[in-house]
Amino acid sequence: MPSTPARRLSVRAICLAAVTFTTVAVTAGVAWAAYTDNMYPTPYANLGCHDENGPDGKVSCQTDNATLTYYMDSSGSNKLETVDRNAVNNVMTNVYGPTDFSVSYDSTPSFSGGAETDIVYQESSTGVSASADGVTFCNNAADSLRCDQQYVRIRGGGHFVKGLTCHETGHAVGLVHGNQASPQKSKTDEALGCMETPTSSDEGLQANNIANINATY
Ligand SMILES: [Zn+2]
Repeated sequence: MPSTPARRLSVRAICLAAVTFTTVAVTAGVAWAAYTDNMYPTPYANLGCHDENGPDGKVSCQTDNATLTYYMDSSGSNKLETVDRNAVNNVMTNVYGPTDFSVSYDSTPSFSGGAETDIVYQESSTGVSASADGVTFCNNAADSLRCDQQYVRIRGGGHFVKGLTCHETGHAVGLVHGNQASPQKSKTDEALGCMETPTSSDEGLQANNIANINATY
């Protein structure tokens, strides 16, 4: 589908909505000097991590450990073209690679068992709300806190760019929007880096997201 000029300039990611699921206890990680705690769970993002059959835009989960593996669909209707693959590889290597995560591409992905490939990227609009260009959802929760395998779907037509890839990957490791951070911040607060909404195309993690990741993993 053709993209509009507005979408080329500004990508949007799905917003989390309040629903009534079991909540998880929030243990505040405040013994460190971050600007705000935007790592799930927070007092404003505490729905229990659980399996989702498809994107519902409501659930946040941490990933299950500091070894972060990823895979990109390379065939079929959800495959990433070379330019999209290059964008994802760049974000994983140069944005998430320098954090405390040990990041690697999994060319022989696992989709079952207890050690699934952590993030699967698809070029797809299936289940992506009309107001968003990407979505992240948990395919297999490890427990109420962590997900063993997350899917990231981003629309075709040039939306696999650094900022939105960083944003959806952030959700896949537990980062939330500013309005769900503690203390709460504007969703457009510049200190949130690529977790801002809308997300600029060239955003990276910046200090606050890195601090939250490194305090968690
Ligand atoms: Zn988002």
